[in-house]
Amino acid sequence: MWQKMQKGLPVQTRNQALGLLYEFQHAAATPLHVLRQIAEHMTIEMTAGLMTEGKSNLLMLPTFVENLPDGSEEGLFYALDLGGTNFRVLRCLLGGLEGRVLKQEYEEVPIPKSLMLGTSEELFDFIAKRLVDFVNREGEEYRAKNRRQQTVREIGLTFSFPVKQTSVKSGILIQWSKGFKIADGVGADVVALLQSAINRQHGPKIEVAVLVNDTVGTLAGGRYWNDDVMVGMILGTGTNACYVERDLPSHAPSRTGEMVINMEWGGFWSSHLPRTYADEQLDNESVNPGQAGYEKMIGGMYLGEIVRRVLLRMAREAALFGDQGVPSKMTVPFSLVTPEMSKMHADESGDLRVVAKILRDVFGIQKTELPSRRIVHDVCDIVTMRSARLAAAGIVGILKKIGGDSWDTSGQSGQLKTINRNSRVATSTKLATGRIVVAMDGGLYEHYTQYRIYMQAAVNELLSEATAKRLVIQLSKDGSGIGATILAACHSNYRY
Ligand code: BGC
Ligand code: MG
Repeated sequence: MWQKMQKGLPVQTRNQALGLLYEFQHAAATPLHVLRQIAEHMTIEMTAGLMTEGKSNLLMLPTFVENLPDGSEEGLFYALDLGGTNFRVLRCLLGGLEGRVLKQEYEEVPIPKSLMLGTSEELFDFIAKRLVDFVNREGEEYRAKNRRQQTVREIGLTFSFPVKQTSVKSGILIQWSKGFKIADGVGADVVALLQSAINRQHGPKIEVAVLVNDTVGTLAGGRYWNDDVMVGMILGTGTNACYVERDLPSHAPSRTGEMVINMEWGGFWSSHLPRTYADEQLDNESVNPGQAGYEKMIGGMYLGEIVRRVLLRMAREAALFGDQGVPSKMTVPFSLVTPEMSKMHADESGDLRVVAKILRDVFGIQKTELPSRRIVHDVCDIVTMRSARLAAAGIVGILKKIGGDSWDTSGQSGQLKTINRNSRVATSTKLATGRIVVAMDGGLYEHYTQYRIYMQAAVNELLSEATAKRLVIQLSKDGSGIGATILAACHSNYRY
């Protein structure tokens, strides 16, 4: 591709910038053998996390969700979804097997940055007020068609941070992530915090029927329509996965013999992960240094920021933007958000004019040369590809954990390994030979076409052809919110 480079940057500068590009590309590379090691390590850490009650990189948190929806759920339920860039409230009228989702509505507001760094009371007052306002605006149609006619409004609380559940309706916040840092929240029961905030509103009677992670909501939302859904996953601001575990440790007792486990895979770490100087800087300057290492290489909150750091170094050390020097806006952390980065990446125009425009709009760089824009484009590509391939390795790690050896990762060799009939997991023929559907939610996956392409390609590299056909990754849009309303129905306090 470099032959195409013409005039523009002085040769010396161009070579320096290319040198930095190659160095980064090399450090961020995810060849197949590395992905295999990561997948394998993920499987091992999953078992370790389950056995040691999370005393490993993966917390592997029991969710107490032992029953997943089957479509028969009925009634009017709410959900409150907190934990990404936006905060959402939802209302959903479920009509059972015949009617399914009869009616639904939601409202979404961005979380003000100040609330992410304030006190838990401020944060919960803000969301409780939105919830109460929303419930107050419940239309007559919902009331008329709600066969249960309960006066209490029950909600599913989707709270997308690591929580140690004490029951399906309660749990203690272990730590914040994704840029939230609220000192007095850690160690507190988040349902109690919300309930007090709701009570302070003196509004309608609202109770939390279920507390779930967004991955769990997504899994439930997917399962509501499709029995083969075994994994719920988020590729959004942050990243995480949960799945249905049948080989349960004693601290996760289940009457049904299965339970959803929230992996908190953002905390996964492996020496095989391709860490670069940009990742190190980002981690050191983050609100949670040393934590969420995998998430910081994958999550949408971080991808644009990684690109910014690489470009900044190129501007400083190789005059990537010529005599304009280092654009001051480029020194501002998180000034390049992932949606803008993905637009640059998607630029297919011969002269990369979208890249030029975004460099101008975001960093105030008035004029760029095509060779520089090509380098910017390549950095976006490297960072996106790495994220997508690492996420794919994680998925394959889960498949190996639940489906045993049948999910061989010998890739192109195309040979299905024999299933070990003695292993407890493999005795479920369905898991060993059938389809597994991953219900996926999150803006990174939803809005980023090239991301999906890279991820699927990596999955195909990792699995044999026959095995890859058994894995379906399905977008379950807004699954985490709807899933929470459905789980609220499953765990309602007002059965009739
Ligand atoms: C949180 C998880 C969550 C994920 C996706 C992570 O930062 O720790 O609980 O599921 O983001 O939202
Ligand atoms: Mg979300």
